[in-house]
Amino acid sequence: MRCDRARTRYLAGDAGDDELRHLQSCPSCRAEQTALDTTRRTLADPAIWAEPAPHIADLVVASISGVPPGAGDSQPRRVARWAGLVAVAAAIVIAVGVVLVQRPPQPDWEVAMPGTDAAPGSTALVKGWNEKGGTRLLLNVTGLPDAPPGSVYELWLTRDAVHVSAGTFTSAGDVELWVGVSRRDYPRLWVTLEPVDEDESLSGINVMDTGY
Ligand SMILES: [Zn+2]
Repeated sequence: MRCDRARTRYLAGDAGDDELRHLQSCPSCRAEQTALDTTRRTLADPAIWAEPAPHIADLVVASISGVPPGAGDSQPRRVARWAGLVAVAAAIVIAVGVVLVQRPPQPDWEVAMPGTDAAPGSTALVKGWNEKGGTRLLLNVTGLPDAPPGSVYELWLTRDAVHVSAGTFTSAGDVELWVGVSRRDYPRLWVTLEPVDEDESLSGINVMDTGY
Protein backbone atom coordinates (compact mmCIF):
# COMPACT_ATOMS: atom_id res chain seq x y z
CA MET A 1 0.00 0.00 0.00
CA ARG A 2 2.90 2.30 0.80
CA CYS A 3 4.31 1.64 -2.67
CA ASP A 4 0.93 2.33 -4.33
CA ARG A 5 0.55 5.60 -2.49
CA ALA A 6 4.08 6.79 -3.30
CA ARG A 7 3.72 5.86 -6.97
CA THR A 8 0.24 7.35 -7.30
CA ARG A 9 1.28 10.68 -5.82
CA TYR A 10 4.43 10.70 -7.94
CA LEU A 11 2.30 10.18 -11.08
CA ALA A 12 -0.01 12.96 -9.99
CA GLY A 13 3.00 15.27 -9.61
CA ASP A 14 2.12 15.56 -5.97
CA ALA A 15 4.74 13.44 -4.13
CA GLY A 16 5.89 14.83 -0.79
CA ASP A 17 9.26 14.24 0.91
CA ASP A 18 8.04 10.95 2.39
CA GLU A 19 6.95 9.57 -0.95
CA LEU A 20 10.12 10.73 -2.76
CA ARG A 21 12.29 9.17 -0.03
CA HIS A 22 10.31 5.95 -0.37
CA LEU A 23 10.68 5.88 -4.16
CA GLN A 24 14.46 6.27 -3.82
CA SER A 25 14.94 3.72 -1.05
CA CYS A 26 12.41 1.01 -1.96
CA PRO A 27 13.99 -1.56 -4.32
CA SER A 28 10.66 -2.47 -5.92
CA CYS A 29 9.81 1.18 -6.59
CA ARG A 30 13.31 1.87 -7.91
CA ALA A 31 12.79 -0.92 -10.39
CA GLU A 32 9.67 0.87 -11.64
CA GLN A 33 11.24 4.33 -11.82
CA THR A 34 11.66 4.35 -15.63
CA ALA A 35 8.08 3.19 -16.16
CA LEU A 36 6.85 5.80 -13.68
CA ASP A 37 8.70 8.60 -15.47
CA THR A 38 7.35 7.49 -18.87
CA THR A 39 3.80 7.33 -17.52
CA ARG A 40 4.15 10.67 -15.79
CA ARG A 41 5.29 12.31 -19.02
CA THR A 42 2.32 10.77 -20.81
CA LEU A 43 -0.13 12.00 -18.16
CA ALA A 44 1.39 15.49 -18.32
CA ASP A 45 0.51 15.74 -22.04
CA PRO A 46 -2.78 17.69 -22.23
CA ALA A 47 -3.67 15.79 -25.41
CA ILE A 48 -4.37 12.55 -23.52
CA TRP A 49 -6.96 14.27 -21.32
CA ALA A 50 -8.85 15.45 -24.38
CA GLU A 51 -9.50 11.88 -25.45
CA PRO A 52 -7.75 9.31 -23.24
CA ALA A 53 -6.65 6.31 -25.26
CA PRO A 54 -7.74 2.95 -23.79
CA HIS A 55 -4.13 1.90 -23.20
CA ILE A 56 -3.52 4.82 -20.82
CA ALA A 57 -5.32 3.04 -17.97
CA ASP A 58 -3.21 -0.08 -18.56
CA LEU A 59 -0.07 2.02 -18.62
CA VAL A 60 -0.92 3.62 -15.29
CA VAL A 61 -1.95 0.29 -13.75
CA ALA A 62 1.30 -1.25 -14.91
CA SER A 63 3.52 1.47 -13.56
CA ILE A 64 1.79 1.55 -10.19
CA SER A 65 1.36 -2.19 -9.69
CA GLY A 66 4.60 -3.24 -11.36
CA VAL A 67 2.67 -5.81 -13.40
CA PRO A 68 3.31 -5.40 -17.14
CA PRO A 69 0.22 -4.73 -19.26
CA GLY A 70 -1.40 -7.95 -20.47
CA ALA A 71 0.45 -10.13 -17.96
CA GLY A 72 -1.27 -13.40 -17.02
CA ASP A 73 -4.28 -13.60 -14.79
CA SER A 74 -3.05 -15.55 -11.80
CA GLN A 75 -4.78 -14.72 -8.53
CA PRO A 76 -2.12 -12.52 -6.93
CA ARG A 77 -1.78 -10.51 -10.13
CA ARG A 78 -5.51 -9.95 -10.29
CA VAL A 79 -5.29 -8.57 -6.78
CA ALA A 80 -2.38 -6.38 -7.83
CA ARG A 81 -4.35 -5.18 -10.83
CA TRP A 82 -7.30 -4.29 -8.61
CA ALA A 83 -5.04 -2.38 -6.25
CA GLY A 84 -3.59 -0.73 -9.32
CA LEU A 85 -7.02 0.24 -10.62
CA VAL A 86 -7.94 1.83 -7.32
CA ALA A 87 -4.69 3.76 -7.48
CA VAL A 88 -5.44 4.79 -11.09
CA ALA A 89 -8.77 6.17 -10.03
CA ALA A 90 -7.00 8.11 -7.29
CA ALA A 91 -4.33 9.37 -9.70
CA ILE A 92 -6.93 10.49 -12.21
CA VAL A 93 -9.02 12.21 -9.55
CA ILE A 94 -5.92 14.01 -8.32
CA ALA A 95 -4.78 14.93 -11.84
CA VAL A 96 -8.22 16.20 -12.83
CA GLY A 97 -8.37 18.08 -9.53
CA VAL A 98 -5.07 19.78 -10.39
CA VAL A 99 -6.45 20.79 -13.79
CA LEU A 100 -9.60 22.19 -12.17
CA VAL A 101 -7.62 24.07 -9.54
CA GLN A 102 -5.48 25.62 -12.26
CA ARG A 103 -8.53 26.72 -14.26
CA PRO A 104 -11.24 27.48 -11.70
CA PRO A 105 -14.65 28.27 -13.18
CA GLN A 106 -14.79 31.69 -11.54
CA PRO A 107 -18.25 33.26 -11.39
CA ASP A 108 -18.76 36.47 -13.36
CA TRP A 109 -20.17 38.11 -10.25
CA GLU A 110 -21.20 37.35 -6.70
CA VAL A 111 -23.34 39.16 -4.19
CA ALA A 112 -24.46 38.64 -0.60
CA MET A 113 -28.23 38.44 -0.07
CA PRO A 114 -28.97 39.07 3.62
CA GLY A 115 -32.09 37.90 5.42
CA THR A 116 -34.90 40.33 6.16
CA ASP A 117 -36.90 40.65 9.38
CA ALA A 118 -39.07 37.80 8.08
CA ALA A 119 -36.07 35.44 8.22
CA PRO A 120 -33.52 36.90 10.60
CA GLY A 121 -30.23 35.01 10.71
CA SER A 122 -30.59 33.75 7.16
CA THR A 123 -28.21 34.75 4.40
CA ALA A 124 -27.18 33.62 0.94
CA LEU A 125 -24.11 34.07 -1.19
CA VAL A 126 -25.20 34.19 -4.82
CA LYS A 127 -22.74 33.49 -7.63
CA GLY A 128 -23.65 34.12 -11.26
CA TRP A 129 -22.22 33.00 -14.59
CA ASN A 130 -23.26 34.98 -17.67
CA GLU A 131 -24.08 32.34 -20.26
CA LYS A 132 -25.59 32.29 -23.70
CA GLY A 133 -29.34 32.38 -23.09
CA GLY A 134 -29.28 33.63 -19.52
CA THR A 135 -27.52 33.43 -16.19
CA ARG A 136 -26.56 30.32 -14.25
CA LEU A 137 -26.94 30.93 -10.53
CA LEU A 138 -25.52 29.13 -7.52
CA LEU A 139 -26.92 30.07 -4.14
CA ASN A 140 -25.30 29.01 -0.89
CA VAL A 141 -28.12 29.54 1.58
CA THR A 142 -27.60 29.33 5.35
CA GLY A 143 -29.85 29.88 8.33
CA LEU A 144 -33.08 29.68 6.36
CA PRO A 145 -35.67 27.26 7.81
CA ASP A 146 -37.27 24.74 5.44
CA ALA A 147 -40.25 26.17 3.56
CA PRO A 148 -43.48 25.17 5.35
CA PRO A 149 -45.45 22.36 3.62
CA GLY A 150 -47.40 23.69 0.65
CA SER A 151 -44.99 26.55 0.01
CA VAL A 152 -41.66 27.22 -1.74
CA TYR A 153 -38.99 29.88 -1.74
CA GLU A 154 -38.74 31.75 -5.04
CA LEU A 155 -35.78 33.81 -6.29
CA TRP A 156 -36.55 36.93 -8.31
CA LEU A 157 -34.42 39.26 -10.42
CA THR A 158 -35.99 42.68 -10.47
CA ARG A 159 -35.72 46.02 -12.27
CA ASP A 160 -38.19 48.60 -10.94
CA ALA A 161 -41.57 46.82 -10.93
CA VAL A 162 -40.53 44.09 -13.37
CA HIS A 163 -39.83 40.75 -11.70
CA VAL A 164 -38.37 37.68 -13.43
CA SER A 165 -38.52 34.38 -11.56
CA ALA A 166 -35.29 32.38 -11.36
CA GLY A 167 -37.00 29.31 -9.89
CA THR A 168 -37.94 27.83 -6.56
CA PHE A 169 -36.43 25.76 -3.75
CA THR A 170 -37.49 24.52 -0.33
CA SER A 171 -34.42 24.27 1.89
CA ALA A 172 -31.07 25.86 2.65
CA GLY A 173 -27.79 24.57 1.24
CA ASP A 174 -26.42 24.79 -2.30
CA VAL A 175 -29.16 25.64 -4.77
CA GLU A 176 -28.59 25.79 -8.52
CA LEU A 177 -30.96 27.96 -10.54
CA TRP A 178 -31.15 29.51 -14.00
CA VAL A 179 -32.75 32.74 -15.17
CA GLY A 180 -33.22 33.98 -18.73
CA VAL A 181 -32.05 37.55 -18.03
CA SER A 182 -28.83 39.17 -16.90
CA ARG A 183 -28.09 40.85 -13.58
CA ARG A 184 -26.82 43.89 -15.48
CA ASP A 185 -30.43 44.53 -16.51
CA TYR A 186 -32.12 43.17 -13.35
CA PRO A 187 -29.81 44.16 -10.50
CA ARG A 188 -31.95 43.36 -7.47
CA LEU A 189 -32.07 39.75 -6.24
CA TRP A 190 -34.55 38.72 -3.61
CA VAL A 191 -36.38 35.67 -2.31
CA THR A 192 -40.04 35.40 -1.37
CA LEU A 193 -41.96 32.62 0.36
CA GLU A 194 -44.73 31.58 -2.01
CA PRO A 195 -47.72 29.34 -1.33
CA VAL A 196 -48.10 26.69 -4.04
CA ASP A 197 -51.52 27.68 -5.44
CA GLU A 198 -53.28 29.09 -8.54
CA ASP A 199 -52.20 32.63 -7.72
CA GLU A 200 -48.86 33.28 -9.44
CA SER A 201 -48.50 36.87 -8.21
CA LEU A 202 -45.86 37.63 -5.60
CA SER A 203 -46.83 36.88 -2.01
CA GLY A 204 -44.91 39.86 -0.71
CA ILE A 205 -43.30 37.74 2.02
CA ASN A 206 -39.74 38.85 1.40
CA VAL A 207 -37.18 36.68 3.26
CA MET A 208 -33.83 37.68 1.68
CA ASP A 209 -32.94 40.73 -0.37
CA THR A 210 -29.86 42.31 -1.94
CA GLY A 211 -31.71 45.63 -2.37
CA TYR A 212 -30.38 47.72 -5.23
ZN1 LIG B 1 7.89 0.93 -2.84
